[in-house]
Amino acid sequence: MPIVTDFDYTLTTIDVGDALCDRFAPPEWHAIDDRWQRGEVSLPAAQREIWSLLRATAAAVRDFVATTARLRPGVPEFFRACRERALPVYVGSGGFDFYLEPLLEPHRPALAGLYCSRGVFHGDRLALQFLTGLECPSCAVCKGRLCDLARAAHPGERLVFLGDGASDRCAIGHADLVLAVRGSQLAERCAAHGRQPFATFDDFFEVMRLGGLG
Ligand SMILES: [Mg+2]
Repeated sequence: MPIVTDFDYTLTTIDVGDALCDRFAPPEWHAIDDRWQRGEVSLPAAQREIWSLLRATAAAVRDFVATTARLRPGVPEFFRACRERALPVYVGSGGFDFYLEPLLEPHRPALAGLYCSRGVFHGDRLALQFLTGLECPSCAVCKGRLCDLARAAHPGERLVFLGDGASDRCAIGHADLVLAVRGSQLAERCAAHGRQPFATFDDFFEVMRLGGLG
């Protein structure tokens, strides 16, 4: 059973990318984010504008992530259960390696793949390098395309997708079961869609029960 999961606010208790922008960019970043939420620009186009406003060194970002970002309760147990049962976990994110990788490092052996874009620091400026190969008109890392990739690697198996946000809606219709963070945009979208089997969760002990791993 392949599992495809989003990162920000799905595996973590906060959206780490948003928290970094709140801490290190001026508040104007919200207006750019709103344009993406309304579908007026693609996520990578919005991110190029937003992250160009950031003024932070790699060390400052690393320290902020280490002190601020936390995985949801049950995530370590979830990764351990997946590894024990040889369930491949694919992490896909519209976010960036410099904060995903430190948080996922202890769980690397459980991951079948980590798909995100890169950020390269030059002093206190950040240059973005978007992942290619899984893009769609609105995302650099399309969750629907990542589900298709995971399904092709495990033909005939039931596929579960985990997510929360606007950038996860591409997965609707590409997974046998969607587990959405309770109260999230993705949960609303699944309910409105009507034909996508889904359930909601707050922590990964629930995810394990819903996915039959508990
Ligand atoms: Mg998310």
